Formats: sequence, structure tokens, C-alpha cells
Amino acid sequence: MNKCYMHDLTWQEFNEKKNGVIILPVGSTEQHSFHLPLSTDSTIAEKISEKLADRINGVIMPTLVYGYKSKPLSGGGPLFPGTIDLNGETLIRLAYDILEELCRDGVKKIFVNNAHFENEAFLLEAIDLVSRKYPDVKILESNWWDVLSQDIIDKVFDEIPFPGWALEHAAVTETSLMMYLAPGSVRTDLLPEEKGVTPIPYHKYPIVKGMVPDSGALASAKGSSAKKGKLITDAAVDEFVKIIRENFGE
Ligand SMILES: [Zn+2]
Repeated sequence: MNKCYMHDLTWQEFNEKKNGVIILPVGSTEQHSFHLPLSTDSTIAEKISEKLADRINGVIMPTLVYGYKSKPLSGGGPLFPGTIDLNGETLIRLAYDILEELCRDGVKKIFVNNAHFENEAFLLEAIDLVSRKYPDVKILESNWWDVLSQDIIDKVFDEIPFPGWALEHAAVTETSLMMYLAPGSVRTDLLPEEKGVTPIPYHKYPIVKGMVPDSGALASAKGSSAKKGKLITDAAVDEFVKIIRENFGE
């Protein structure tokens, strides 16, 4: 049992902790190439939330393990078995209902930790709608990649050039994070020899086979390591703590 996980608490224990920061990890169930599990985004969101909760004595809600559809050039698209996507409207309503329930319970400080690139607009829509109804509740939303400094990015991409966050799917950062946060889940012998795709400045529907490499990776994972995963995790958690102290005065 871990006392920072909401689902391990009784209602009375939760009630005692509800004045602190409540963390909602959000991920996806999505293909992450040959070498990473479908849970990759959800595992990263949850494990980073665990380290954050330790630092701020926060409570982690059950992870939202489904997310919005990936596009072919930012996550690989829906053509891979095991990718279970939500429609945008579903995600907005799901996040809205969860956040509103917290507000009704008297929670005042919420941190949404998103680890799936495509979720953000829909999460922000839910947050905005809840916020209009409960203006005394402060809700923050962030993710591990936007808070990284150029210095950290340079250290992580010491072997290959940084391809941009949209293409960093199942590539160096996520592979390194999983090597550090969930080492047993990385199939290191199956790392694809992916050179990466070239982004195009438009979207094309319907999405058909061939728009994404067969591996499902959009950029190379060459040079991934648990050490880099720890570097990213520590930097992101430090930034999250800073953001929380600035905004919640924790
Ligand atoms: Zn991912």
C-alpha cells in the first residue's frame, strides 16, 4: 500500500489530505513501437506523479489510461492493434466529470500531469469549463517535456539530433524514461532501426497504412539509457515542484 495513491486511502484518509495538492496523471493506451508497452504514456505519467507526490506530500488519483487519438505524425496514428483511442468529446467529458467531483469534495489545488501529447487541448477544455463553475479552485496542467530546459535537451540528444516533440514518439526520451521508471518493460533487443519520418505541413484523412513506419516509431531511439531517463525525470519533477510552489504556495 502506498499512502500517496488515492485508491489506497479510505475516504476519511482522503478527506484529511484533500487540502493538499491532488495530482491527476493522464496517459494513453497506445502503440509505442516494437520495444515499449501500450501503457508507456500512462506508466510515465503515474511514475513521475509518484515522485512528485513524495516531494509535495500530494495525493495521486487513479491514472486516466485512455487518451485522445494520435495523428500519424505525432504518435503514430490509430492503425496499430492495441491502440485504444477516445474521441475528443469523450475525453473532455471524462476529465470534466473527474475534476468536477474533486471540486465538489472541497479540493482546492489540482495538478494535471499529462504524458500523452495529443491530450492537451481536450484536457484544457475540461479544465476551463470546470474552472468557470468553480473559480475558487486552482487547476494546473503540465507535462514532462514542456518543462525541460535546453540544457537537459542537449544532454539527452548527445548522439542524434532532437527531432521535435511531435516526432519524439517511442524514441529517445520515452525509451529512456521507461528504462528508468519501468525497466522490466523495455524490450531492448527489439529497438527498431528507425531513421525517423519527415514531417509534412498538412494532415491527410482517411488515415491509411504507409503514413507511419511499420515499427510505429517516428524517430530513432538510439542512445536511450536509464541515466537519461533519470535526468529527464528529476528535471521535470523539480520544475513541477517549482510551478506548484509558485501557484499553490506549497
Ligand atoms: Zn508516448
